[in-house]
Amino acid sequence: MGVPRALPPAEIVTVPRWPDRTLDVAALRAAGHGPVPFREVVLKVHQRCNLACDYCYVYTMADRSWRNRPPVMERTTWLAAAGRMAEHAAAHRPAGMRLVLHGGEPLLAGIDRLTTLVGDFRAAFSGECRLDIRLQTNAVLLDPALLDLFVRQGVRVGVSLDGTAETNDRRRRYADGRGSHAAVDRALRLLGSPAYREVFAGLLCTVDPSTDPVASYEALLAYGPPDLDLLIPHANWSSPPERDPAGSRTPHADWLIAVFDRWYDAPRQETRIRLFEDVMGLVLGGAGRSEQVGLSPVAAVVVESDGAIELVDSLKASYPGACFTGLTVFDDALDAALDHPGVVARQIGVEALSAACRACPVHAVCGGGHYAHRYRPGDGYLNPSVYCADMLKLIRHISGRILADLRRR
Ligand code: SF4
Repeated sequence: MGVPRALPPAEIVTVPRWPDRTLDVAALRAAGHGPVPFREVVLKVHQRCNLACDYCYVYTMADRSWRNRPPVMERTTWLAAAGRMAEHAAAHRPAGMRLVLHGGEPLLAGIDRLTTLVGDFRAAFSGECRLDIRLQTNAVLLDPALLDLFVRQGVRVGVSLDGTAETNDRRRRYADGRGSHAAVDRALRLLGSPAYREVFAGLLCTVDPSTDPVASYEALLAYGPPDLDLLIPHANWSSPPERDPAGSRTPHADWLIAVFDRWYDAPRQETRIRLFEDVMGLVLGGAGRSEQVGLSPVAAVVVESDGAIELVDSLKASYPGACFTGLTVFDDALDAALDHPGVVARQIGVEALSAACRACPVHAVCGGGHYAHRYRPGDGYLNPSVYCADMLKLIRHISGRILADLRRR
């Protein structure tokens, strides 16, 4: 088991203004772009991690704000967050809301704290709408006592894992260099067993084009995940993706296409893959579920361990303070965040795209790619994705395959 990160000296973060200078929130509201209430709150119950994955956007990219926050969330903070979430539900009357317990590594909070926290949120929502609670973990600390709690309290568990043991241990390691696969494999065997399978939400895999895509996919499939998220690693125009200069111009698309063909050609559906299902649905005129493609409004917000209300934390890959709103659960309703330019920009669809993306033939499917991947110092997020060529190739491949099948039938 790894040792939680030590707290380094506090660092002063200068918070820049939201970089998209063309965004006029008042004019957009007047034109009928109403706010879309939040449906998901990501709660940073623990700020530190017991792994030191080399691509982690929280610890290895532009933003370092985690250093200035409490390592673990206090009960007064989550009670305030639960109250704000229930208040938001009462005001907007959704059918349900989702709470995602996140970090760092949320299991570092410990079973006693998690038991109280989940009970407090269930109590805050009694009489309100349905509350779906998820926990996203590296699974290193997952054990039967925690899983019994999750079964009792109806908490579904998503696990991060990057493929085969060799692939995973290249990047998902403890701070001392040891790979994490053996511990995660033990946890996933437990999670997939009959006693706990009902709380297994799925796997999250970060794409590494230097690995064998089909071997990676089949290694993940061996755990029987009901859902599989394939995440293109966070990068932007000032921190571009690692590329082999002698290799393909679109290594991420090539990797994803190999997995798509293996998944799509299987005689029966072996698991759900959100990225592929979203692209297929969007090609056929539907809406997407993920942040990686499409133009659907993003309705998620983050509460940090000190109670700060922040934008979705993938933006931490952009620049220091990119997620800052100046709001907290102690002083502000979640509604106050709905007019932040960083939330508005994620809810206005095509209006938030660069001129190049608006002119692109696949923009309704691609949606300009993941918002965090569009950032360039100087023009903010008004750019195509730094993965533009990969997005174009992947979308053309998937649409070509499904449209050919439809024509045949
Ligand atoms: S493929 Fe490129 S240009 Fe087209 S919408 Fe996506 S990021 Fe924009």
